[in-house]
Amino acid sequence: MTELKSRITAAIAAAEKKPWNAFRLVMGESALRQAEELEKREGPLPLRGIPVAVKDNIAVAGVEMSCGSRLLEGYVPPEDAEVITRLKQAGAVILGKTNLDEFAMGSYGLRSAFGPVRNPLDPLRCAGGSSSGSAAAVAGGIVPMALGSDTGGSVRIPAAWCGVIGFKPSWGAVSRRGLLAHASSLDAVGLLAGSAADCGRFFDAVAGFDPGDATSFDPEPKARGVSGLRIGIWREQLLLADTPAQKAVLEAARLLERAGARVLEISCPAVILAGETYVVLAAQEAVSCLARFDGLRFGRGGEPTPALRTRLMGAEVRGRLCLGSALLSMEELAPLRRGALCRRSEIRQELERAFREADLLLGPTTPGPAPLLERAGDAGEERKADALTVVANLAGLPALAFPLGEAENMPLSVHLMGRRGEDRTVLRAAMALEEGRGAR
Ligand code: GLN
Repeated sequence: MTELKSRITAAIAAAEKKPWNAFRLVMGESALRQAEELEKREGPLPLRGIPVAVKDNIAVAGVEMSCGSRLLEGYVPPEDAEVITRLKQAGAVILGKTNLDEFAMGSYGLRSAFGPVRNPLDPLRCAGGSSSGSAAAVAGGIVPMALGSDTGGSVRIPAAWCGVIGFKPSWGAVSRRGLLAHASSLDAVGLLAGSAADCGRFFDAVAGFDPGDATSFDPEPKARGVSGLRIGIWREQLLLADTPAQKAVLEAARLLERAGARVLEISCPAVILAGETYVVLAAQEAVSCLARFDGLRFGRGGEPTPALRTRLMGAEVRGRLCLGSALLSMEELAPLRRGALCRRSEIRQELERAFREADLLLGPTTPGPAPLLERAGDAGEERKADALTVVANLAGLPALAFPLGEAENMPLSVHLMGRRGEDRTVLRAAMALEEGRGAR
């Protein structure tokens, strides 16, 4: 057997054991076929023979996509998502679909209709969500790269808790065609990888304008060098984290400084309201994004009555749709609705000001390490976990979670955020962190 085929066979075997409940479906036969076809393709390909796992809310033609929900069970998309087409062109092998919180609503990885995902570093802890299966598949060494989606932190939170890299590109820098929409103005296809260099290659393969997604664009082709880069430590975000996570941020600042960057402190107080703003906007948008599951076209949603269909959704999804519908239709709630839009523009303006002083903003990705399963799931706690990550979605900015530091024998993570379109500068800084961490 060729080296390529044996690599893919090993990945299939590892995934088929369904460790940590990370995989919903393994595409064994198709992955082997892809490997065979690859062997006939000549020339260098940037991701030749790399097995990639795909969050089960991104369409792969002919492969069931259930989005962690009973409602969509049995739905088979007819076309590949644009990111899948690009990955195949780059020589990657699509290995299977990964488990997620139902309709990507969650931060812990506990809300899939097909059971929770466990953390490969400690199975008594959460993997984080909602791209839980993808993060576990990378952290557990089954694949070096996986696709996720990030509406409010769903790639960065599980990356942080599983000790891998999670990157949410600028809004539109990667096509969303074929990603099941959760809240379109916040959604991004996200990347999970074991190293910053891999994450960079992964991004190069999928990024850029797609005529099938009118909101897509080409990000800056060149990265700014780290030398001379101004890194702003974000005071308000730092204060939301526990002491070990704060220390990790200071350590990241030191590593970047050693690579030639200049470190300063930045204040951006309006972002303290980002969590609430996100809850209102995401719930409202989810109502229109999920309205297409009306029982006429997709999966088991074809149940005879709306009441039966609703029963196929989990409590969280139902709750958010109720909240969103109320916000959209009740006059008494109009101030909340308008307030969220105002705060979103305030947050954007504040960040614009911050990015005049700094080129990158640095903070913690999550306040602490992955919680124990038995302690997770509380809605208030969940909002806390999201508070640090939703800002990047509200402002459409590129943001990356980088594993650094430790608490309770689990990894911690620092968060780098850049200007819209400067995705490659964020990735370059992550590479500098990786080099600095290795050289320590
Ligand atoms: N945790 C957030 C939520 O529950 C973010 C989800 C996401 O990014 N998809 O909505």
